[in-house]
Amino acid sequence: MSQISLFGDEREEKQAVPVGKTLSVLVPYPVDKAYDYAIPKNLEVHEGDYVCVPLGQREITGVIWGQAAGDIEPKKLKAIISKYPLKPMPEIHRKFIDWVAHYNLAAKGMVLKMSLSAPAALNPPKPSIAYRKKVSDIPAKLPEKRKAVLETMTEGKTYSATELAEMAGCSTSVIKGMTEKGLLEMVEVFGSPPCSSINPDAGQHIDLSKQQDDAAQEIISDINAQKFSVSLLDGVTGAGKTEVYFEGVAQALKNGKQVLILLPEIALSNAFLDRFKKRFGCAPALWHSGLGTAQRRETWRGVANGKTKVVIGARSALFLPYQDLGLIIIDEEHDPAYKQEDGVIYNARDMAVVRAHLGSFPVVLVSATPSLETIHNIWEGKYKHLELPTRFGEAQLPDIELVDLRNDKPERQKFLSRALLKALVKNLEEGNQSLLFLNRRGYAPLTLCRGCGHRMECPRCTAWLVEHKRSGKLHCHHCDYHMAMPKTCPSCSEEDSFVACGPGVERIFEETSEYFPDARVMVLASDTAESHDDLKAMLKKITDGEVDIIIGTQIMAKGHHFPDLTLVGVVDADLGLQGGDLRAAERTYQLLHQVAGRAGREAKKGHVLLQSWMPEHRIMKALAAGERDAFFDIEASEREMANMPPYSRLAGIIISGREEHMVKEVAEALGKISPQGANAHGQRIQTLGPAPAPFARLRGKYRYRLLVCADKHMNLQKTIENWLKQIKIPSNIRVYIDIDPQSFL
Ligand code: ADP
Ligand code: ZN
Repeated sequence: MSQISLFGDEREEKQAVPVGKTLSVLVPYPVDKAYDYAIPKNLEVHEGDYVCVPLGQREITGVIWGQAAGDIEPKKLKAIISKYPLKPMPEIHRKFIDWVAHYNLAAKGMVLKMSLSAPAALNPPKPSIAYRKKVSDIPAKLPEKRKAVLETMTEGKTYSATELAEMAGCSTSVIKGMTEKGLLEMVEVFGSPPCSSINPDAGQHIDLSKQQDDAAQEIISDINAQKFSVSLLDGVTGAGKTEVYFEGVAQALKNGKQVLILLPEIALSNAFLDRFKKRFGCAPALWHSGLGTAQRRETWRGVANGKTKVVIGARSALFLPYQDLGLIIIDEEHDPAYKQEDGVIYNARDMAVVRAHLGSFPVVLVSATPSLETIHNIWEGKYKHLELPTRFGEAQLPDIELVDLRNDKPERQKFLSRALLKALVKNLEEGNQSLLFLNRRGYAPLTLCRGCGHRMECPRCTAWLVEHKRSGKLHCHHCDYHMAMPKTCPSCSEEDSFVACGPGVERIFEETSEYFPDARVMVLASDTAESHDDLKAMLKKITDGEVDIIIGTQIMAKGHHFPDLTLVGVVDADLGLQGGDLRAAERTYQLLHQVAGRAGREAKKGHVLLQSWMPEHRIMKALAAGERDAFFDIEASEREMANMPPYSRLAGIIISGREEHMVKEVAEALGKISPQGANAHGQRIQTLGPAPAPFARLRGKYRYRLLVCADKHMNLQKTIENWLKQIKIPSNIRVYIDIDPQSFL
């Protein structure tokens, strides 16, 4: 850590440090307690300040959390080393960290760590080198390149070398040469924080429809009242939800507040960002896992000092230390990507509601297919319902048609029905774009030996290896294990005996290319794009009409707006219903509805074909008939009968470790004393398990699960805490607590 110590090397000799009062400091480590530290006399610090403190042999960054606990004799306390020159972390944010830790049974320090996600941002930014014109007239007999550079420059303005080189069409060495000759001068400049000069009125004025305006006014009045509220902006794709919430963003900006827009990571597309830029005259600050250190540092700092006004990000953006947040938008609120499944396990959508409550401002959930939890909160009167039932303008909702695969069976080893092929032919002839949707990466999900029936499995996970033709390898989709496709079966040694079972997108690509050799076909899955920029470039190609048929996974389902896309074929509509997950039906409904929504988003009418082996299933029927509310009613009554969320609360307990017998032992010991029955208030609780998890082995670790199901108003966290602390967990065994689990694997 490049931190300047106040005391040089003497700080180890505690006696030399004149100390005054004491305060507690929370550090970003798996600890729940803020430790007491002494404050040197010449250092002025306050709660929320970012400080450097000694911990063991190291010097680390922490945040002053509050008053000292006083459990250590002042003389024995170590002293804070230094303070970073930053505005303190606001009290609301510190309370938020406490709350998130408490609710998710996570260590406070680990939640803090999510907020200290750009360590380099703590130190003052370094200036960068820029160039300025040093001569007012262009000297005669100047080489062409140098002349071009001077001509593109405005007097008094500064430019980076790469910027100049690009503008003048020369190399950066020309710039250096010109500086040596005294034509340019080098200056140090500080960049402005991202999204700091944003204009709420930059965009063209648009007239909202009556429905849109009502929804916008409702949001605006809550923003102005600085009042906590949760609204669901509920409308079909293309209804203008984005347009409506942009009005809210504009109002919050006019009130001088910061705004956070959460998107499922993959939806951070160019198209959306361009639209934002047009509306607000400035690019938003971005926050997601694909950013480089420099961008992270600048955004973090801009957010922390209040200069960066709008952040658009994935779930982790919720933990940035906003100086004055006044609105959160959660687009696609139903999306499973809002749940973080490792490290601190939390649901960003739910935590965002808490953040808004602490900060007394509105949060707007946005979806065409809201989660049942959110709908239930509307039924209970907790959330406001802002509805936009129709698409804006000429665009109509697509027709959805079911293809019964029992009657229209694809050929052997093929997966596209005649009905779907016919529709593809027609759509190609009309010069429109088609999407074939299959939520499965790779070529085939299972590789089997024809001779002995041996299945190729991951040696580290309970999972089949997935063939990828592109890489010529078998991949595990749960860990990074991969191997070359073997020549002979490892079980019976027969040669070339492997058969691919079932389709992945690569296999659909093969089939499509066979049927339509002249069509421009593109596969789009999370692993076909090498990087975020790559992915954006591919999406742009689609938007620009350079692709006829897209074969895509769920990466294609979300948020995109492709003007020429009019046909969507869902290769296997039943796929998500396997596995018996609590939310399988809900998720399938959401995903398929979302995919269907990609079709016909402009004047051209869209058409959707769902290939299914069980077209009579209530989900297929609800999708085809567009009966969302009927679907929710049935789904809700089933959950209520089974006493499942949103009518009860769940927590998953996962025990994991390398030694199977130890994992089992701990799981069984916990099972023996698990919470069961009713408490003094008549609130019921039941614990199921332990049982080996469906992924009994993951990345070489064995896994057992328990599932706690409790009445809604029970203090589940307290119960779990009291339960788990009765057993000493060996150091090579990890116990994960998943409050409100989404995954049961
Ligand atoms: P959603 O977010 O519900 O999918 P969008 O906000 O993206 O819908 O709107 C769909 C399209 O309709 C966009 O191109 C948007 O600019 C346009 N649109 C929506 N409402 C209006 C309006 N009142 N005036 C003009 N264009 C609108
Ligand atoms: Zn694996």
